[in-house]
Amino acid sequence: MNDNLHQLRCFGCGSQIVASDSKPDFRCSICGDLFEVEYPGWQARKGPDRPNAGALKWLWRERRMSTEALDQSGVWRFRELLPILNNFGNAVTLREGNTPLYHLPRAARALGIDQLYAKHQGMNPTGSFKDTGMTTALSVARERGFEWVACASTGNTSAAMAAYAARAGLRSLVLIPDGKIAWGKLAQAMDYGAVTCQVKTDFDGCVRVLTQVVKAAHIYLLNSVNPYRLEGQKTPAFELAEAFDWNVPDHVIVPGGNLANSAALEKGFREMVELGLVARMPRISVIQAAGANPLARSFVENAGTAMTPVEAHTRATAIRIGNPASWRKAARAIQTTGGWCLDVTEAEIAIAKAEIGAEGLGCEPASAVTLAGLRKLRAQGSIASGETVVLILTGHSLKDADYTIDFHRGELLRDDEKIGHEDEINKLRRNAVSVEPTMDAVLAALRGVVG
Ligand SMILES: *Cc1c(COP(=O)(O)O)cnc(C)c1O
Repeated sequence: MNDNLHQLRCFGCGSQIVASDSKPDFRCSICGDLFEVEYPGWQARKGPDRPNAGALKWLWRERRMSTEALDQSGVWRFRELLPILNNFGNAVTLREGNTPLYHLPRAARALGIDQLYAKHQGMNPTGSFKDTGMTTALSVARERGFEWVACASTGNTSAAMAAYAARAGLRSLVLIPDGKIAWGKLAQAMDYGAVTCQVKTDFDGCVRVLTQVVKAAHIYLLNSVNPYRLEGQKTPAFELAEAFDWNVPDHVIVPGGNLANSAALEKGFREMVELGLVARMPRISVIQAAGANPLARSFVENAGTAMTPVEAHTRATAIRIGNPASWRKAARAIQTTGGWCLDVTEAEIAIAKAEIGAEGLGCEPASAVTLAGLRKLRAQGSIASGETVVLILTGHSLKDADYTIDFHRGELLRDDEKIGHEDEINKLRRNAVSVEPTMDAVLAALRGVVG
């Protein structure tokens, strides 16, 4: 392995290991915590050998004009900051990344801020940000000669893993909770040829079973405990800095499930500061669903220093996780950048999702927690009107069309969940109406909306 360029450092006890010594479950054999990829050469290369910030910015921009697959990837375009492969020829890419950054003018006006943007990671090849981490981790699996890869998933990880495995000619094993994932995601895993097990448990139960499987069989684990996932998932930070002409926004707001993505983005910004690509860090805030809020609770109870798992319940299935693996990494990202960790209710998520839809963007329910969280942060005075805010929209609207239809039909939320939100919900609902095949009937339907 590229041991001279990267090593793994335990997040808990700080012990360093060479990459090839990591265990199949990516847990430290001393303290049981997770690893982070680090590049000792970057610190050592002070002076003339240090990667030159100006040259990198120029190179990364030039690559956007290239016809090479690796250059067209919004992850591998930044490969100078991803020295995890011996041979970049082993990289498996579907041209992930390079996702759009959209202004949200209506939401911005409603919230009294000017500079509100959405970085839409749902615009990746399989429809979620998981692609950015899968291209890096699966490439490592391929370089190390694995024939099988596996993940436990609420849906999007399995869709991404199955696609990248198929591209690389590897076989993939998916463990998903029985009956509690969005159909679009299950369909993708099947379409890309994964061996899919619907396990009669929740996500946290799937993780427990899979951890035993990878210790018993020669299968490469691609859950986000795999530190190479986070290397790919840090690259949207580079894209954001580039989009803001190598400045950073004041706030980045991220949904929290298993809590790796928020940590990955923080790592991306931190490395840019270390290498002199940007001058400062944004504040990183994490938003959870109120029914799956172990980290938000821990911030209320003990400032994020200890976390008690919960039994998770939310219709935002991508973040229906009660015992998040990367909670310590996410807690540090929030604490060191001066961000917040909050939770939002099912009604707040549904309303925010409809508002993002009404901007012509759309997203998964799990992504909408960001806008719902921003509303709370504005209300508590944490974000000033002149500050720049970026919401990370993690998944595509069509991943969970049932959720959207149920909302507009008025079947999503129970009466007790709607209390206090009835007017907002009624204003946003756009149910389909059934009409006779005549002009008059259609015009009558139109008057019903306009009138
Ligand atoms: C995986 C996922 C999340 C949660 O990301 P974590 O890294 O697990 O916190 C949020 N939204 C969507 C759409 C996802 O697929």
